[in-house]
Amino acid sequence: MALVPEFNASSPERERRDTALAESEARYRALVRASSSLVWTSAADGQIVDMPEWRALTGQTVDEVRGWGWLNSLHPDDRARTGVVWQAAIDARSYYETEYRIRRWDGQYVWHQARGVAVFEDDGSIREWVGICVDIEDRKRASQQQIEAEKALRALNDTLEQRVEAQARERARIWHVSQDMLVVADTEGRYLNVNPAWTATLGWSESDLVGNTSGWLLHPDDQEKTHAELAQLAEGHRTLRFESRLRHKSGSYRWLSWTAVPDRGLVYAVARDITEIRIAEEQLRAARRELAAVSRQTMMGEMTASIAHEISQPLTAIVANAYAGSQWLNRAEPEIDAVREILKQIGNEANRASEVIASTRSMFGKGRSEMSAVSVTTILGNVLVLVNDEFERHHISVKNETLCELPQVMAERVQLQQVFLNLFMNAIDAMSSVTDRARVLTIKSRLGENDGVLITLEDSGIGIDASHLDCIFDAFFTTKADGMGMGLSICRSIIESHGGQLSAKPGDLHGTVFQIVLPTAPLPL
Ligand code: ADP
Repeated sequence: MALVPEFNASSPERERRDTALAESEARYRALVRASSSLVWTSAADGQIVDMPEWRALTGQTVDEVRGWGWLNSLHPDDRARTGVVWQAAIDARSYYETEYRIRRWDGQYVWHQARGVAVFEDDGSIREWVGICVDIEDRKRASQQQIEAEKALRALNDTLEQRVEAQARERARIWHVSQDMLVVADTEGRYLNVNPAWTATLGWSESDLVGNTSGWLLHPDDQEKTHAELAQLAEGHRTLRFESRLRHKSGSYRWLSWTAVPDRGLVYAVARDITEIRIAEEQLRAARRELAAVSRQTMMGEMTASIAHEISQPLTAIVANAYAGSQWLNRAEPEIDAVREILKQIGNEANRASEVIASTRSMFGKGRSEMSAVSVTTILGNVLVLVNDEFERHHISVKNETLCELPQVMAERVQLQQVFLNLFMNAIDAMSSVTDRARVLTIKSRLGENDGVLITLEDSGIGIDASHLDCIFDAFFTTKADGMGMGLSICRSIIESHGGQLSAKPGDLHGTVFQIVLPTAPLPL
């Protein structure tokens, strides 16, 4: 097949040229085949006479291929379009190019690109059409894959965008609905961004806050520690638990509990309003204080009731006898002997009453409850837990240097607790007015002489006037406006009833040292 118009020539010449042409065609065909293409020809009017390679590929017969029959081997979706394009090329005598899917003999559709040109006679008429079909399945698949990859990428981009948007929306929602106060600040504490919870909690508007530091809002007592905390943040440390007070627009202060992290020159902080919790804590502390007071008063009450009961009998007898005596004296002849006798009885009853009073103190320690081997260290620890809040409230630090490995003592647990509770409360009273030194209570325990356990409580309080040292253990001695003066007296009774001693002496520099010695419990056999 020639791709150039032929011209008339003599027969041998023509033969030679036909042979050359056939050879060239064969070469061309081989070349096309090697490049996975098939070659086709058609009559000048576009009718196919035969396409052997097409047949080999599709399994169509010569009859089936003939004319426009070859179209039946195309994918149904490609047939009409291909027919139109082919017809247009024929009509226009122009270059033919299209793509379609050929149904292979095994039923598989394979994308091909078809191209064809008209071969012209010398007179300009079309001699035939010649073309190739190139297998473009791989290219199509690759471009399909690329399209799908691009589609997937676009979808991913879209979802990524949506996700970023959704996350941003979520964050904005958290920022807006959070009841905790969220703030972004610089390391000098200047607020750069605050959430609406600030207005809800403190009453100030966003514009009151943003651009300012917390200085004008902070409680004066919290200024110093807040600056120290900010300095820590500026050095890259986190704030895990920090409490401070900020002023509400109404003038009151709200307690806030902070957590904060520094990040690239900014501080991200969350504050929770704990004012209500603080109030509840204070109420709890007050309740505990009341409980301790009630506990002391209960002891007083018990004691008073006992004293009243014990001395009411001799007093009644004294009153009755005094009355009888005066009756006898009032007689015309006073019965002096009887009066003498009755005065003796009155004296006896009065002595009985004073004995009752003298024995009252020991009554509180003896024979009222079960004694057992107990650890002083454990009992001290238990009472410390009870009054810990009181110590904190009065800014008193407790140094507990008690030894765990001490021997046990024989004691009534509750009474020992009462003693320690009393001594702690006295120490708090003595230290709460101290402002020029640290308020410290040091508790020590060790094995004393004669196998006793020695416990010392040293406070840094106001101390005891030297002239009072002898009387503080007396009943009703007090230097406090609201004191009862019974605490130490009862404490000493209790300790002595345990076979121990309770004493006091001035501290080395200031304050008071109370010292308790308790005999150790006998070792179990
Ligand atoms: P009250 O505490 O009711 O006054 P106490 O018998 O417990 O009764 O104490 C008697 C007095 O001893 C107190 O009023 C106080 O003057 C003095 N006192 C007790 N403990 C201490 C202490 N730790 N520091 C200074 N004085 C104390």
